[in-house]
Amino acid sequence: MSRGFNFSSGPAVLPEEVLKEAQAELLEWSNARASVMEVSHRGKAFIAMAEESERDLRALMSIPANYKVLFLQGGATQHFAQIPMNIGFGGSADYIVTGQWGQKAVKEAKPYTNARVAATGEADGFLKLPPRDTWQLDSNAAYVHYTPNETIGGIAIHDIPDVGNVPLVADMSSNILADTLDVSKFGIIYAGAQKNIGPSGLVVMIIRDDLLGRPTAPMANIFKYSAQAADGSMLNTPATFSWYMAGRVFKWVARHGGVAAMGERNRAKAERLYRYIDGSGFYSNPIEKSARSLMNVPFRSPNETLDEKFVKESEAAGLLALKGHRSVGGMRASIYNAMPIEGVEALISFMQDFAAKNG
Ligand code: PMP
Repeated sequence: MSRGFNFSSGPAVLPEEVLKEAQAELLEWSNARASVMEVSHRGKAFIAMAEESERDLRALMSIPANYKVLFLQGGATQHFAQIPMNIGFGGSADYIVTGQWGQKAVKEAKPYTNARVAATGEADGFLKLPPRDTWQLDSNAAYVHYTPNETIGGIAIHDIPDVGNVPLVADMSSNILADTLDVSKFGIIYAGAQKNIGPSGLVVMIIRDDLLGRPTAPMANIFKYSAQAADGSMLNTPATFSWYMAGRVFKWVARHGGVAAMGERNRAKAERLYRYIDGSGFYSNPIEKSARSLMNVPFRSPNETLDEKFVKESEAAGLLALKGHRSVGGMRASIYNAMPIEGVEALISFMQDFAAKNG
């Protein structure tokens, strides 16, 4: 058996080049005479790697000097809570909710701040974005939180919302590094690593300096972004292997043309897949066209029995993890940076065959 094309929503496909690099130095990394997983995070070699990974990410995303880059743990979910603890304490915060991850972010924030739903697409089943003129933003909010790419529903806010002077906080777990981005428009960008960055266990956060000075909830140091920033994200032992892999992925992105090239490739992949779905007369995607995700493409066949058959047969054909999220059903193809165009072509060709046999 060989590696299949992996359409998993996360943990997700990683660049094969990076996996091979990791394989080649799994036993002996750098000059350590040990693997990267077996050395101290405070040793020279690891610190040098950590610093290089930050420099590489800063260059890739053109991160301005007045932002810190943190390499944290806890998954994006923990930061649903930690963000309000750090920057929303005692005030209120606005949430733009366009899917299940946004809903979860609101729920986790509630114990720490008055988390207001300023806009939600719930009434439309999250198949459409709430129109801008319905957003009820409060200019005194501590921040505005949104999820530019909702991984489960496959819906995206493609333009950066203008929220005035209120810091904009974005959960970019499933679209970080997927395209060019003006970081200066954000207060915080954060992402669980396990889609476009590396293995799980790592959260990358880009946070504007002034937000580190806000009064926080009474809490232990370990939860404070300011303390992590002061200590190079090494207040405790970081997720060393995930961090190392993230560094490798940053170099891979740079080698392949940077985020602008990723964006072009991602648009080409998504356009090809949506065009086929829309023209197939067999498959459908329910998301309003202007808000379709470039990363996660949910689709279904004419009925659930065929969906089940599709998932089973596609897996056997080496097209992995196409089963849709349990709350949505059908299928979902996640086509992150590391999914080559050949994977999307193989999927479309399988879809054509399947439709011809079952239509
Ligand atoms: N936000 C988004 C947009 C996600 O796709 C996910 C799931 N991977 C999460 C948050 C939760 O991430 P984690 O499992 O790292 O807490």
